[in-house]
Amino acid sequence: EGVTVAELADALDVAANDIIKRLFLLGTPLTMTQSMSNDLVELVADDLGRKIRIISPEEENSFSFYDDPSDLKPRPPVVTVMGHVDHGKTSLLDAIRHTGVARHEAGGITQHIGASQVEIGGRQITFVDTPGHEAFTAMRARGAKITDVVVLVVAADDGVMPQTIEAINHSKAAGVPIVVAVNKCDKPDANPDRVRQELVEYGVIPEEWGGQNMFVNVSAKKGDGIDDLLETILLQADVLELKANPDTFASGYIIEGKLDRGRGPVATVLVNRGTLHVGDAIVAGMSHGRVRAMLDQHGDNKAEATPSDAVEILGLDSVPNAGDEFRVFEDERDARALAEQRALKARIEEQNKVKHVTLETLFDEMNENELKELNLVVKADVQGSIEALADALGKMDQSEVRINIIHSAVGAISETDVILAAASNAIIVGFGVRPQAKARDLAERENVQIKTYSIIYKAIEDIDAARIGMLKPTE
Ligand code: GDP
Repeated sequence: EGVTVAELADALDVAANDIIKRLFLLGTPLTMTQSMSNDLVELVADDLGRKIRIISPEEENSFSFYDDPSDLKPRPPVVTVMGHVDHGKTSLLDAIRHTGVARHEAGGITQHIGASQVEIGGRQITFVDTPGHEAFTAMRARGAKITDVVVLVVAADDGVMPQTIEAINHSKAAGVPIVVAVNKCDKPDANPDRVRQELVEYGVIPEEWGGQNMFVNVSAKKGDGIDDLLETILLQADVLELKANPDTFASGYIIEGKLDRGRGPVATVLVNRGTLHVGDAIVAGMSHGRVRAMLDQHGDNKAEATPSDAVEILGLDSVPNAGDEFRVFEDERDARALAEQRALKARIEEQNKVKHVTLETLFDEMNENELKELNLVVKADVQGSIEALADALGKMDQSEVRINIIHSAVGAISETDVILAAASNAIIVGFGVRPQAKARDLAERENVQIKTYSIIYKAIEDIDAARIGMLKPTE
């Protein structure tokens, strides 16, 4: 249950022998790996002249604060741009920033802080730069909510490509609506209508065809359609009725962290709730401190940041990770205590990693943990295998457990597949393909099952057997 002697020694940064000696003198001899009661932990810490506060799991998890509906105010949308490589994500963000800056202050330079905010018609939009859908899903796997709307960039001269499909599946798995920016419309061979047609197959259907998705034709290069895109994002945001309580202690997520030579640990935070002020006591993942300064993407100082604002902060004692949660405390000692507690917990979690579902444990999970869906990521050497599997699954009895193929593609099993599977509690099934070495390592670390087959009917047989608890462990 409690922390072990070794873990406490680590957390307090003292020699384990010192703790063992004190425990002995207190009449409770323990070894390195034995765990201690909370009372004992407090006693020993006190003995060492250290002030600690033990935070209960409930307290730590009480992060889903309750807000009275009357305290909720509209907040700007937070947007992530995704799409196939070279389809123009970077150019589009640049074009958007450029419009923002031009309107803001002529000639202003923007700094890279991992996010930017633009204003259109008196309303604001926050763009988060994630390097790709891997990062997006890796953050989601850690519980971070950093996107309200995904802008999917598809080049009109190239159409739907493998990473376009991946981006769609990652967005769908996260339940985030997609606005499509059909880019490079200035090119002579651009065919924006073909893009629309191709996307239908992946369930991204233009509103004008009776679907749910808004499409905008743009040229990032010429700056055409950018305002239209921004207005469309706001329309999509209106549908979502985004709200947050600004009048409380701030909390949210870390978008980026780095160590700056002159300024020390620097982190870009996205505020989800409350208002962040200079001087606030803050904990971010396992780091903590006081907000010494806050800067926006123009490098201007800000005194406060409200929901959906992204700002760079200075004053943390170490560099937090992207996707870490942050929150403000009234008392800096509480922030410190939580940071230390989290460091301790991280070490314990490292030892007892989350186990994801496997075909062998599926039936038990259905019965004991009321698992109702089996998610699959399917990779194959040919498209035909994927279709054959989907076909056979469609015919299988799914009254007890629904089987979803959340992503499928031709190609080797990659790290991205593993990240998606881990975030969605999915199993990876491969036909005639093997996992890349990095993917295999990651799957092992994340406890994601990879099943590879050379014959389709064998996979179907296994899934069918797993469904009714008849699959015998093989490996
Ligand atoms: P990313 O990999 O998705 O970030 O794509 P980039 O923004 O780096 O763009 C890839 C290439 O496409 C670059 O050479 C851009 O100059 C070009 N490009 C981007 N947008 C447009 C556009 O609207 N029209 C044209 N003609 N070229 C573009």
